[in-house]
Amino acid sequence: MSPEYDLVVIGAGPAGVAGALSAALAGVNVALVDGAARPGGQYFRHLPEGFHPGRPGALHHGLDRFTRQWEALRERATLLLGHRVWAVERDEQGVSVRCLEGDREERPRTVTGRRLLLATGAHDRPLPFPGWDLPGVLTAGGAQALLKGNLVVAGRRVVVAGTGPFLLPVAAGLAEAGADVRGVFEANGRLGLARHPLLAAGKAGEAAGYAVSLARHRVPYHGRQAVIEAHGEGGLTHVTVARLDRHWRPVSTRTVECDTLAYGYGFVPQLELPVQLGCATRRDADGGPVVAVDAGQRTSVPGVYAAGESTGVGGAVLAEVEGRIAGRTAAADLGRRVGPLPALLRRRERLSAFARALLTAYPVRPGWQRWLREDTLVCRCEEVPLSGVREARELGATDARSIKLLARPGMGWCQGRMCGYAVACLAGENVSAPRRPIAQPIRLGDLAALTRSPLEG
Ligand SMILES: Cc1cc2nc3c(=O)[nH]c(=O)nc-3n(C[C@H](O)[C@H](O)[C@H](O)COP(=O)(O)OP(=O)(O)OC[C@H]3O[C@@H](n4cnc5c(N)ncnc54)[C@H](O)[C@@H]3O)c2cc1C
Repeated sequence: MSPEYDLVVIGAGPAGVAGALSAALAGVNVALVDGAARPGGQYFRHLPEGFHPGRPGALHHGLDRFTRQWEALRERATLLLGHRVWAVERDEQGVSVRCLEGDREERPRTVTGRRLLLATGAHDRPLPFPGWDLPGVLTAGGAQALLKGNLVVAGRRVVVAGTGPFLLPVAAGLAEAGADVRGVFEANGRLGLARHPLLAAGKAGEAAGYAVSLARHRVPYHGRQAVIEAHGEGGLTHVTVARLDRHWRPVSTRTVECDTLAYGYGFVPQLELPVQLGCATRRDADGGPVVAVDAGQRTSVPGVYAAGESTGVGGAVLAEVEGRIAGRTAAADLGRRVGPLPALLRRRERLSAFARALLTAYPVRPGWQRWLREDTLVCRCEEVPLSGVREARELGATDARSIKLLARPGMGWCQGRMCGYAVACLAGENVSAPRRPIAQPIRLGDLAALTRSPLEG
């Protein structure tokens, strides 16, 4: 049986939508699949039906542009929202994308294509510390998602902590929305951004906007400081903030009262589907694995392309540019005529250099491991404390996988998305690409009812 579509795109964020539209404009028959009910991915979040904020674009630079792309795509492609992809298979004819369609009453559905573009984005990278499992502690991305997607301000008195430039829009957004932001605590030096000439040149305007907003709301921005403990009975009441040395070892501490902590240490690309397909990975500037692609965003697997954060964390604009390149490359590989790429390639090069510089300016330093105590939960889903991880190591476990088999961190609901990075660091190994044959939860009955690939006829 021949595939239904020329190109299946997974992910309706900036990368996937741009990729799908570029290919569709070149005459390619495209299906775009996303697990979410609305397009936009992590950056362009949509408010629930009926919400009409005064300035919908205020929290999303480029929302108008994305909306125009989406409207153009609606007329030219099959859009399959609310389809969670749990596996992808490939044979000589193309790819079979295994989805679960719907909300509570999910139905299995398989979408087939001659080519595949993976644009699955990234998720937050938290680090464990005593008290991170208290109500009131959430990831910076989670706080931002609540604000942008629901107009919900995560708390009244908020501390923002972690590392990287993402802390700035989170703090500025919360302050603008009325929260009393008690401070931003950046674990790396506060001049990390400004000192880097490339960074200063690339995003000076945007950074200045956040700086003005923080100044207007009197939000202090502290460098080389981190939240190393959260306190409270049944809910967050205060945090311990430490001044850090350059390895992130605490030097001195103080207490800051708050009811909410929004924190994050960067992002982890979602690699389950590319790894399932056997796509080669490479190490990004922060040492983490990302999908390796060539100049046209082709992965090492024939007919499979990747774009956006799964090929390296670099922001929504870079994701869109990569998506456009991938869509056009796929169209050209399918025999369609496409416009010239050089200007896009130059733009991608500039933006990726900026992204690499950011990753280098805001590393995660090993001293965070000293923030943990023996009873600190490393894996919240399975409630595995640091002592459990250490015992597994004493039993001979030398990597995150064997620690997981012995002590269970990463075996719970999130499947290691929250604790995987920390466990790998505690095991003393490089973080490796996740090997999950099932990328999203699926009912046993649906799995049992599976037939062969529809492409097999
Ligand atoms: C929680 C969070 C909040 C963020 N907020 C901001 C912000 O406010 N400002 C900012 O500048 N940057 C933010 N970022 C970073 C920003 O989202 C990215 O730079 C940008 O969205 C990357 O675009 P993308 O297309 O690569 O991926 P994404 O925008 O992440 O889109 C990926 C899409 O793939 C879909 N998907 C993934 N896996 C599957 C699957 N198995 N089945 C079906 N669909 C799947 C997802 O539902 C999603 O829609 C945030 C990141 C995160 C993780």
